[in-house]
Order: sequence, then structure tokens, then C-alpha cells
Amino acid sequence: MAEILKGAPVASSLTEKLITHADSLKKRGVTPTLAMLRVGEKAGDISYETGATKRCEKIGIDIKKIILPEKCRREKVIEEIHKVNRDKNIHAFLMFRPLDDKDTERSACEALSPAKDADCMTPSALAGVFTGSGTGYPPCTAGACLELLDYYGVELSGKHVVIIGRSLVIGKPVSMLMLSRNATVTICHSRTKFLPEICREADVIIAAVGKAGFVGADFVREGQIVIDVGINLDANGNLCGDVNFPAVEPVVKAITPVPAGVGAITTAVLAKHVIEAAEKSC
Ligand code: NAP
Repeated sequence: MAEILKGAPVASSLTEKLITHADSLKKRGVTPTLAMLRVGEKAGDISYETGATKRCEKIGIDIKKIILPEKCRREKVIEEIHKVNRDKNIHAFLMFRPLDDKDTERSACEALSPAKDADCMTPSALAGVFTGSGTGYPPCTAGACLELLDYYGVELSGKHVVIIGRSLVIGKPVSMLMLSRNATVTICHSRTKFLPEICREADVIIAAVGKAGFVGADFVREGQIVIDVGINLDANGNLCGDVNFPAVEPVVKAITPVPAGVGAITTAVLAKHVIEAAEKSC
């Protein structure tokens, strides 16, 4: 039986540290503050907003919610972002993505001050992740993968990490985070040949495909650690990951569940970025 790498203990441990840090900031007259911009009423966005709000309140982070109608003009979104940039009391900003209007999303990413970018939406923050310059923060989900591996004591140096997925939200940035820990990284995608064979060579597999149960028993062998980033619905409408958990769990050394795995850590990582941005503003 594999060790189940649950997200809740990772998130709790990080939250406790952040409560102490937020207290110390408040004693210095700084109330860490996050602005969240939501366009429209997508259920996934509202659910993440609720989780992030609860996490931040527990830590002592103030929240400013900006909610715009789905059909709002691009200028309105940019205007709100400019207000955030100018507001000295707001330390960090999150916009729920993707937006339906790709041009508006691109303009919004370019309009935000990189210093306030909590989720790697600006070109500068992305460049920081790729160059290792320390500018900005990685996307919260990519950061959550690293927090989880660190919490469970997984040494990455010299290990072969295979990542399935090359999106800018997860696949590419998580690859850079693994590389920064001296892992040997293979990035796979929809054109990759012999994917199950490549995965069987890995020490750690990170699945960010967006396909329910995609990683089956033929992708794995004994001794591996499997991180499932996927959030999908199965044929019965239940939440499930990219990994076929019942098939893979009996084979590998350790595996994250879905739900209650990586996804449970992302709001704590978001809060960490807010606290760090507030600290830098002092
Ligand atoms: P995405 O932008 O759709 O990217 C999916 C990646 O998977 C692409 O690079 C694609 O390759 C690759 N892929 C698709 N089919 C494949 C196949 N048959 N073989 C190998 N690779 C294949 O998705 P994303 O935004 O990265 O999200 C990935 C998953 O993570 C989704 O389930 C999403 O819901 C979930 N997610 C979770 C969290 C969290 O907090 N846990 C946060 C965000 C997203 P190509 O590039 O060649 O098309």
C-alpha cells in the first residue's frame, strides 16, 4: 500500500507559520492585504475565492474582492488593476483565470505591477521562475507541488522527475521549480511518444494533463512518488485527478489523492505569497 500524501497537513503547517509572520507584520503597522478580481460567476472561481478567503482570514490577511460582470469591457478590468497598482495598502493580487476573453486576460497580465503578482500572471514573474532570479512568485499550484514534496521529505536532487503537461500555469513552471532543486526533468505533452515507458523511468511523476484517470498502471512501477495535479470530473460527475488512483496506488511508494491532495495546499501558498509581498513592502 502506498503512503497517501494528503494536502491538509502541509497546508496546516504552512498556515501556522504564516499566522506568526502576519502577527509580526501587524506589530510593525502592516496589515497584509490581498485583492482578488473575479470576472463572472464561474463555480470553480467562486469555490476557490471562498477557500482563499477562509485561509486568509485565519492567517490575518485582509481581503479586497473585486467582482465584475462576465460581459464587462476590457478597459474596466484594466482600470481595476491600475487601482490595485496604485493602492499602497494592497500588497498582492490574484485574478481568476482563464478569462473567456483572451485579449483581456493578456492585457490584464501586462497591466499588473509584478511586485503585487501573487500567482505568476505577469511576464516578469514568469521570467523570474524561468531565470531563477527571485523576481515574483511561481503559480500557486506549481508552488503547492514543491511545498508538498518538501513537507513529506522527498529529496529531489539527482532524481528523475517526469512532468506530464507543459502549460504555463503548471507544467512549465513546476519543471523549473524541480530543476531549481537539481532534479533531472523530463517534460511530456500530447506529442510525446512512449509516454508510459518514460513515466516508468521516473522517480517522481507529476501529472498535469487535465484528463480523468489518464495515468494508469502501465505508467508506474514500485518505488515511485506520484503527484496528481489534475482536477476533473469522472463519468459520474465526481471530482477526480489525472491518475487512475485505484490502479496506481497499489503499485507505487507514495501518491497524492484527489480531492484533498495538491489542491488543498494552493490557498496556503497564495497566502504565503501575500505575506512575502507585504514583508517586501516594509
Ligand atoms: P492545460 O493547459 O490543458 O494543459 C494540459 C497539458 O497536458 C498540455 O501541455 C497538453 O499537451 C498535455 N496533454 C494533453 N493530452 C495529453 C496526452 N494525451 N498525453 C500527454 N500530454 C497530454 O491544463 P492545465 O491548466 O495545465 O491543468 C492541468 C490539470 O491541472 C487540469 O486537470 C486542471 O484542472 C488542474 N489544475 C489543478 C489546480 C490545483 O490547484 N490542483 C490548479 C490549476 C489546474 P499539449 O501542450 O501538447 O497540448
